Amino acid sequence: MSHPAHHLHDPPRHSRRHVMTTVAFVGLGIMGDPMARHLVAAGHEVTGHNRSPEKTRPLVDAGGRAAATVAEAVEKAEVVALMLPDSPDVADVCTGAGGVFDTAQPGTLVIDFSTIRPDVARELAGRARERGLRMVDAPVSGGQAGAENAALSIMVGGAADDVEAARPLLDAVGRTVVHVGPSGAGQTVKAANQLIVAGNIALLAEAVEFLRAHGADLEAAVEVLGGGLAGSKVLDQKAAKMLSGDYAPGFRIDLHHKDMGIVAESAREAGVVTPVAALVAQLVAATRAAGDGALDHSALHRTVARLNGAAS
Ligand code: NAP
Repeated sequence: MSHPAHHLHDPPRHSRRHVMTTVAFVGLGIMGDPMARHLVAAGHEVTGHNRSPEKTRPLVDAGGRAAATVAEAVEKAEVVALMLPDSPDVADVCTGAGGVFDTAQPGTLVIDFSTIRPDVARELAGRARERGLRMVDAPVSGGQAGAENAALSIMVGGAADDVEAARPLLDAVGRTVVHVGPSGAGQTVKAANQLIVAGNIALLAEAVEFLRAHGADLEAAVEVLGGGLAGSKVLDQKAAKMLSGDYAPGFRIDLHHKDMGIVAESAREAGVVTPVAALVAQLVAATRAAGDGALDHSALHRTVARLNGAAS
């Protein structure tokens, strides 16, 4: 006998593939917070944990839950998402006492969205496998705006079936999701991404100083440059910050410094020569050394301005 009321709860035909997943989300910073909230909006049950507990509030307000420890977030999760700053943070959260590898149920899928070293991603995926867990590296590009608009580009490394299992969640936070190879491959592609972005920022900063020295109308110049071959997402998102001098992050110089280190190490490992990357890495390092590490990476412009005689 059929119960008509049940039909009310049937998902519409077009969304039959949607399955509610229990997700633990560790690292609710500039990127993790909006990503976790998009997973809630997509119908998943999300429990968040962050080192500074107050950062769980927006997730709770959006319908998620807060956990005081990694273990509490992870123990009932089918999927564990990580969005942490650096390789040691991800290694600690995964392999430390009471960490993900200690507490996750066998078969749990770990999606690491953080940008870390490719070799660390490969090693962690191997250790996860030894514990009966599955792990993919899924670093993202698109910045804070991309995270807030669920429009990230996600470069995914891992086994094909694990990547397919992760795909519904990746699609909830990203617009361009591409499986680029085995474990670690996502991080390698992300390193290339960071090299391209930093180089673009450095040249944009030099162009702004060049135009300023010529007394050009900077707003007009940026507008027309944006419509030609010099146009880029970096120009679209970062030129206004350089013109206004508002360097609130965004993506912190400290994090881009970490990423230029990943580029340098990975290039050396492969025997690849990347002279422009080396120069840009020095400009990023100089920006950090000048005390601007907590500013947006567009603050590299401040270093270029200082090289041109600006006072601060
Ligand atoms: P963030 O704002 O610093 O967020 C990182 C979060 O992780 C912070 O809230 C931090 O907590 C938390 N955390 C650190 N260690 C933890 C631990 N052991 N347990 C629990 N929480 C911990 O950094 P983000 O900008 O979101 O970047 C995160 C990752 O995404 C980085 O790998 C970055 O390179 C990458 N990424 C960033 C962007 C961007 O535009 N921002 C774009 C693409 C990729 P606290 O509040 O205590 O510090």
